[in-house]
Amino acid sequence: MTTVIENNQKNDRLEVGTPLLEVKDLHVEFHTRDGIAKAVNGVNYSVAAGETLAVLGESGSGKSVTAQTIMGILDMPPGKVTQGQILFRGQDMLTMGNEERRKIRGQKIAMIFQDALSALNPVLSVGYQLGEMFRVHQGASKKEAKEKAIELMDRVRIPAARQRVNDYPHQFSGGMRQRIMIAMALSLQPDLIIADEPTTALDVTVQAQVMDLLAELQAEYNMGLILITHDLGVVADVADKIAVMYAGRIVETAPVHELYANPAHPYTKGLLRSIPRLDQKGQELYAIKGLPPNLLKVPAGCAFNPRCDVATDLCRTEIPALHHVTDKDGKELTGRRSACHLWKETLHG
Ligand code: SF4
Repeated sequence: MTTVIENNQKNDRLEVGTPLLEVKDLHVEFHTRDGIAKAVNGVNYSVAAGETLAVLGESGSGKSVTAQTIMGILDMPPGKVTQGQILFRGQDMLTMGNEERRKIRGQKIAMIFQDALSALNPVLSVGYQLGEMFRVHQGASKKEAKEKAIELMDRVRIPAARQRVNDYPHQFSGGMRQRIMIAMALSLQPDLIIADEPTTALDVTVQAQVMDLLAELQAEYNMGLILITHDLGVVADVADKIAVMYAGRIVETAPVHELYANPAHPYTKGLLRSIPRLDQKGQELYAIKGLPPNLLKVPAGCAFNPRCDVATDLCRTEIPALHHVTDKDGKELTGRRSACHLWKETLHG
């Protein structure tokens, strides 16, 4: 007997590495009473089938606004896309009709939110909510939908799924609820999953279990995964590549292990230093000084300059472009870019 997921896999799946989503020069702003906040300022990134992109940044960096724009769930107004393209399998989602976009959302691109308790309906059983995807999108009967819900709960390793299918969200632990969210996202076997801080509300051990499960399912079913997080510690083992965002711009991109080994931007360097390490027990934890800027008053030049220990006069006047990064012999490093006037000193210094 074929499983829910195998059934759904009969859809047009892409080969690993085939471009899935390309965000090109995306600009999103918010019109507020106090002025225009440029939340996303020329963001470019891509994710391929079977690939995991981690988008990293503090709150206000634009990482979640970019994701909400991809999903078409950004409140407009006050939000407004002023420029750019979001190509999903080659088609620009920003110029599609509502109906076409709605079909992609949920069926082809699914989202996992940070707070499962508020994303799930408290008065409906989890089995009903999981089964709804099959009733609405695939015309399954009530009985079939329930069986499929049980199968999905089993797949995300919820113990005693058959006995618990009629339980309500509040009867599950935080980690189990997040597994239900993953099951829901997986149910229609999307090409791409966007997970926005999927483990932030969980304790560290459960965080690791949920991340491992997500990574395992993503690899098994060959989906693209965009993992949005403020925590570099969470993505080291699961991401293929990282885009670091600050004040609406991408400031560094790199394959994950290269970024951890040798960052090319002082902000990334600071984020890495802020990760607690077992071999530094008893020492004070490093924190980047200051706070991210108010998007209505972004500093001139490099937006990070008031917090940067190595800022120069140039940093206070000129916005650094996202440069290709080279090794000491001048050879371009694939996939590596940095928006810092001092990237060479940061990387090779
Ligand atoms: Fe620091 Fe200047 Fe680089 Fe910005 S451009 S990160 S202020 S050194």
